[in-house]
Amino acid sequence: MTASRLLLLGPPGAGKGTQAKLLVERLQVPQISTGDMLRAAVASGSEVGKRAQGYMDRGDLVPDEVVIGVAEERLARADAEKGFILDGFPRTAAQADALDRLLERRGTPLERCLCMVVADDELVSRLLKRAELEGRSDDDEETVRNRMRVYREQTAPLIDHYRGLGVLREVDGLGSVEDIASRIEEALA
Ligand code: ADP
Repeated sequence: MTASRLLLLGPPGAGKGTQAKLLVERLQVPQISTGDMLRAAVASGSEVGKRAQGYMDRGDLVPDEVVIGVAEERLARADAEKGFILDGFPRTAAQADALDRLLERRGTPLERCLCMVVADDELVSRLLKRAELEGRSDDDEETVRNRMRVYREQTAPLIDHYRGLGVLREVDGLGSVEDIASRIEEALA
């Protein structure tokens, strides 16, 4: 049986979104990306979007209570019953605790946390390249460096949390998209 309740963890630029999309095709479960949902909220001008925008533009984390609300609502939808690929959530200890509690209530614990490992220099150059291609407002150099610092300080400690739960698999994130996809495949078996 392939695991279908998954979390992709890793620094900005590690390739979580790319691999999440391949996993959606393969496993037929939805990608839940809080970054995408928050950007949609900003674009629509909703209350959540208004609260999130300033934090996102600076590369800071949006407050836990906002993000937890967004993620919980999405996980409650019917299509997430048979599985999900969490991408960019949780990013703090409080978010991880909220997720643990939610999944415990449902009796559907997380099966795998795939941690994508990529060196810092490679991340910065990928993110600056993406900035040119997509023009995301949080991809300039200073903001990129802030997002990486935020990752190291607030999100990287979650690696130990998931190691402790026995679901962590580390995946080398360097190489072609296909190489990484097949490493992930192995980590899900
Ligand atoms: P990245 O390329 O940095 O992984 P994302 O698209 O996942 O980018 O997120 C972009 C921004 O959205 C983050 O810098 C942050 O401001 C906000 N964000 C996304 N997910 C979360 C979260 N789980 N907690 C707090 N803020 C978040």
